[in-house]
Amino acid sequence: MITSTMQDDFPLTVTAILEHGTRVFGDSQCVTWTGGAEPRRANYSTIGRNARRLASVLAELGVGPGDRVGTFCWNSQEHLEAYYAVPCMGAVLHTLNIRLPAGQLAHIINHGEDKVVLVDGTLLPLLGAVASQLRTVEAFVVVGAGDASVLGNVAVHRYDELLARGNKFFDWPDLDERAPAAMCYTSGTTGDPKGVVYSHRSTFLHALGTLSNNCTGARESDRMLTIVPMFHVNAWGIPYGAFLSGASLHMPGPHMTPAALVDFIEAERSTLASAVPTIWAGILQVGEQREIDLSSIRMATSGGAAIPRVVMEAFQRRHGVTIVQGWGMTETSPVGGLAHPPAGVDPASEEGLDWRMKSGRLLAGVQMRIVDDSGAELPWDGVAVGEIEVRGPWITSAYHRDPAPEKFDHGWLRTGDIGCIDPHGYFLITDRAKDVIKSGGEWISSVELENLLAGAPHVQEVAVIGIPDEKWTERPLACVVPRPGEAIDPAELASFLAGKVASWQVPENWTLVDEVPKTTVGKFDKKVLRARYQAGDLEVLRLGEP
Ligand code: AMP
Repeated sequence: MITSTMQDDFPLTVTAILEHGTRVFGDSQCVTWTGGAEPRRANYSTIGRNARRLASVLAELGVGPGDRVGTFCWNSQEHLEAYYAVPCMGAVLHTLNIRLPAGQLAHIINHGEDKVVLVDGTLLPLLGAVASQLRTVEAFVVVGAGDASVLGNVAVHRYDELLARGNKFFDWPDLDERAPAAMCYTSGTTGDPKGVVYSHRSTFLHALGTLSNNCTGARESDRMLTIVPMFHVNAWGIPYGAFLSGASLHMPGPHMTPAALVDFIEAERSTLASAVPTIWAGILQVGEQREIDLSSIRMATSGGAAIPRVVMEAFQRRHGVTIVQGWGMTETSPVGGLAHPPAGVDPASEEGLDWRMKSGRLLAGVQMRIVDDSGAELPWDGVAVGEIEVRGPWITSAYHRDPAPEKFDHGWLRTGDIGCIDPHGYFLITDRAKDVIKSGGEWISSVELENLLAGAPHVQEVAVIGIPDEKWTERPLACVVPRPGEAIDPAELASFLAGKVASWQVPENWTLVDEVPKTTVGKFDKKVLRARYQAGDLEVLRLGEP
């Protein structure tokens, strides 16, 4: 009989992340963009002291172990302070999506039972609109200026005033690594949002995972531009990875337009940046209007939705920026893998781009499998397509007060994503299960069609949805947004696709739209397009039989 001699009960906590960042990398900086004036700068020692001050006053306001503290904020220094203060004091950080419709916002604050909510002054009107429906909130803390009368009769405090009287020597409690640290609700594109609760342990291990060279490989010399909102899956773990690696953080605040982001990158020389594909496409457009300098970026990551090949290709050719695609979900903390090309392949080459068009390559710590409709496991041959299931230390095993047994399969999370895995762990998402188009018993990948059409002349954006068809059950309808001032001929687009996909996969149904509707985190919202089609709201041009 032999037992481990290691300190296996050493807790992996957010407090350990904070202590490392403040002691080892105390001079690394959090830079918050102000959109013109000098940016606000605070080093990690200051962030650590402010986190203690904030925790001490939250405790005075009655926040105890396990209580939820909501944040309704942009990416900023104060949001970062809350990212540490709340989990380290033993409470649970509940990041609230500032773009949710009012009904859903009230629902998740009530469902999460938030006791205190931190709100940016600029966002007061949005939160004020639901304030009267909130059942559990006992106090609001307003960051910056703004008319707080919209919040009603609940106690309102000002962040700066609280911090000024806070205790910078506040003692962090000892915490169990399995205790909840943070929670985030899924974006709820189908049904009500579901709450995912991250533990200290899962947060620590996920942050470490994101720092490996198979992910961002972030280190002290990096400056990470956090474009992905801090209300969306812990900003992909970047704020925690920064304190473990010493990389500085660039926070855009409310200045989230592509043009403002470019200004930030140029001024502060960001080296890493992470965003959803729509943001990257927007930055490319800024580059079409003026000379832009992205030379400081050593690597960019894109995730949350499939990125069109033309966007990756243009970044490489015009700006020398290599975008690496990654995949993840709210339920997976989120990072499941990044598609770095294999050894010996130049990432900037055409072959490198082929690899980067995969959705990811499994990150150590995450296990994945694909299963068919009967639940049987399919081979990793890069061809067999089925539902992707995952498990691992930063993958959720349940939802907050919502059993949802249909989302789990013997300890594996059913992702609802359809795809294949190759023999070396590269995986490709071909569709969400609900977006797959089933035509004559065969599947058509809407993602593949979108990707190809995004590279066609005069196309600004395109989303493909399945529509009912008497003969084939379903057929694709391509919803195309022309570039401003340019005309689109669907017949030309159909010929453009010929030879690139099987002839029966080429859509015969086309419609022109002003824009593709987006979800609150900037992904295509096909549910809205399907509803518009059903309501007879889309003018469909039919090119003939498939
Ligand atoms: P969310 O929980 O809002 O982050 O959404 C997670 C979903 O986004 C996944 O289940 C996928 O459907 C989608 N997704 C994330 N990354 C990618 C990617 N690289 N390619 C295609 N879909 C993606």
